[in-house]
Formats: sequence, structure tokens, C-alpha cells
Amino acid sequence: DTTRELLLSRIKDVQDYPKPGVVFKDITPLLADPEAFTALTDALAELCVKHGATKIVGLEARGFILAAPVAVRAGLGFIPVRKAGKLPGATLSQAYELEYGTAEIEVHAEDLNAGDRVIVIDDVLATGGTAGAALELIRRAGAEVAGVAVLMELGFLGGRAKLEPALRGAPLDTL
Ligand code: 5GP
Repeated sequence: DTTRELLLSRIKDVQDYPKPGVVFKDITPLLADPEAFTALTDALAELCVKHGATKIVGLEARGFILAAPVAVRAGLGFIPVRKAGKLPGATLSQAYELEYGTAEIEVHAEDLNAGDRVIVIDDVLATGGTAGAALELIRRAGAEVAGVAVLMELGFLGGRAKLEPALRGAPLDTL
């Protein structure tokens, strides 16, 4: 539809970034266009309402940029999931595998509780490793997963299939 076309037109392919052979999807042109950024915010907020979310998790760093205005628009709290060592309070941590090595993300333990229904927002789903680890954190905090919503999914990396077990039937929406 027209929103999809608008969003696609504002995503730039950058060859050989961050390393040779990789085509990076750059969303900065979309963020710089108020019409496109508003359309994206509205579409993500609509998904949050549709799935009955009560809180929104954004994944560092580009997920923050998208999730914060969505939280304001939807009238829901914004919870940052950050790379290890960045949050000052008591955290839950979750490690996950990268192409080479591992990474770790954290959330403030007191931010997610039983009774919360949480949507995870990020810009890009690539291998699904980051989103999968975020779902683990949400469940370990005792909260329920309402879904994962991303601007775009790199289909050729198979992230959707990899994320499927961690979703346990919750929806993965790609704009
Ligand atoms: P995954 O864990 O799914 O492999 O990687 C997803 C994470 O890497 C997301 O947080 C996303 O921001 C980032 N990422 C991976 N590839 C791209 C890309 O081509 N463009 C953008 N904007 N982010 C990417």
C-alpha cells in the first residue's frame, strides 16, 4: 500500500557497510522526513493497540528512535533494552550469539512485571538474535510477550524462522 511504498522509498541501501559484501539498510532518510517518520510511528502505534500491549520495549540503538514516539502516541510506557553495562540499576541480562562471538543485552528488572503485555520494537530484523534475546528477558521478568514489530525484515537471513520458537505464537509484524 501507500505507507509501505513511502517507507521503502526512504530507506537507503549502503553498499559494503559496515564491512565488504554487506548491504546496510540506512533508515536516516526516513527519520529526516516528517511525513514518513509520522507514518511509521502511526503504523507501529496501531499494531501496539491491536495486540493489546501495555508496555513498549525498544532495542538499542535505532529501536529507541522508533519506540519512543510510538510509546507517546500509544500512551504506553517505554522500556529501554540496552547493551550490557549501560543501565544503572539492577538488571536482568541475556546473552545471544552473533556471527562471531556473543553479545549481551539488559533491562532494568523493575521495569517489567507480571501482568505486563510487551511489544518489542526495532528497525531491522536480521538474524533475529537480538529480538530473541529480548523476548527471553521479557519472559524472565515475568511479563507476557504481545509481539515483535519492526520496520523491516531481511528475509534472506531467515530471522523469522529463527525467532519463531521464542515467539511462542505471538505475532511478528513487519511494515
Ligand atoms: P539481528 O540480531 O536480528 O541479527 O540484528 C538486528 C539488529 O542489528 C537490529 O538492532 C538492527 O538495528 C541491526 N541491523 C542489522 N542489520 C541492519 C541493517 O542493514 N540496517 C539497520 N538499520 N540495522 C541493522
